[in-house]
Amino acid sequence: MNGENGLEWDTPMYRLAVAQLDQAAESMGLDDNIWQRLHTPQRAHVVSFPFRRDEYDRVETVFGYRVQHLLTMGPTKGGIRYDTGVNLGEVTALSMWMSWKCSIMGLPFGGAKGGLRINPRELSSRELQRITRRFTSEIIDVIGPDRDIPAPDLGTNELVMAWLMDTYSQQKGHAVPGVVTGKPIEIGGSLGRREATGRGVVSCVVDGCRQAGLSSPRVVVQGFGNVGRAAAEILHELGFTIVAVSDVKGGIYAEKGLDIPGVLAHVEENGYLEGFPEASPVGNAELLELPCEVLVPAAVENQIGEHNADRLRCRLLVEGANGPTSLEADTILRERGVLVVPDILANAGGVTVSYFEWIQGSQRLFWTEEEVNAKLIALMERAYKQVREAAERRGVDMRSAALELGIRRIAEAKRTRGVFP
Ligand code: NAD
Repeated sequence: MNGENGLEWDTPMYRLAVAQLDQAAESMGLDDNIWQRLHTPQRAHVVSFPFRRDEYDRVETVFGYRVQHLLTMGPTKGGIRYDTGVNLGEVTALSMWMSWKCSIMGLPFGGAKGGLRINPRELSSRELQRITRRFTSEIIDVIGPDRDIPAPDLGTNELVMAWLMDTYSQQKGHAVPGVVTGKPIEIGGSLGRREATGRGVVSCVVDGCRQAGLSSPRVVVQGFGNVGRAAAEILHELGFTIVAVSDVKGGIYAEKGLDIPGVLAHVEENGYLEGFPEASPVGNAELLELPCEVLVPAAVENQIGEHNADRLRCRLLVEGANGPTSLEADTILRERGVLVVPDILANAGGVTVSYFEWIQGSQRLFWTEEEVNAKLIALMERAYKQVREAAERRGVDMRSAALELGIRRIAEAKRTRGVFP
């Protein structure tokens, strides 16, 4: 299974995704050819284009990616991220995780992912709009409501999706809301989509606490963006004590629990968490090692490794972010008895409500927020139960069980469809 070593997407994050796939494939006795097919994306698009900054004479070259891992199950689906770390290996790994995630949730999609290698925080709103429109036109032939449907991810949001949808629609000559999900309500977005990933994370925290026998746990959340903020807010509403949260600049800690509505108001006003008066500052690395029962990494990948896994004090780790834990850390945490709810299950709430948005849009029939949330929780609980039962049955951890479940369904579909020609 090493044929792709040295290929374009061979980066540490890709290697992590492949190592996870290999472990699961080995343990479930996956057919060799299907195993090999799942190792690499079916389609990968790399683009470069000129980008004019607000200062008119300044033109820069920008790199963009859209990777479609699996075309077997239906259209492909996955976020677009704007981050300086974006590269072909990263989006390829993320597209593979999307495939497993959709399969675990029973959604009719294969995985995709894309992004631009930029720092969105350095760009003005006008620049962000221009770069999004140009990127959309660069990938216009490979996306579409029945082909490949982007959504927000790290560094992108509803507004970016609105620009993407508008650019696509201008080129097609009519409105095509189904080309993206996670778009604003007024152009066909779904109620509950903004908070969906965070709500799904919370559903896993609740199930995880039940499984690990934790009552009145203290929670630490790393990342205060779309995922972390919604998770913290909903957990607070449910009565959980959030002792620390963080963003890219650092975190805040209050032993007795943070006033989350106050924190939200502070961020609304100041843009960042720093300076929140009723808490002590704490660094992002230190935050992971704070005393707590539940840890939710919801920022970026590669946060928990060999260097810190034995210092985490949580008993339940619910991965809001994609790829926060290394393979070595997984082993250490398993040996230490920490229950890990893996990213491909824990953060699947986003793509699940994206699926609801896509259905509502194609039927021109929109659901209430209560309906959306109830359907989301039902699917999250069903998936958690299936993964937990598989883990217990096979005597493996939750990540292995989730991977095996996702991969098995895809393998069955591939086998049924056969090989063309
Ligand atoms: P976001 O851009 O809305 O928020 C990211 C948050 O992390 C921000 O608070 C940012 O300040 C912070 N951050 C950035 N770099 C950091 C660093 N090096 N250390 C600590 N904090 C840092 O992004 P998001 O949409 O919330 O995505 C977060 C994670 O969740 C990503 O791994 C993403 O792939 C994953 N995810 C997102 C969705 C979704 O629906 N948005 C769905 C599934 C998975």
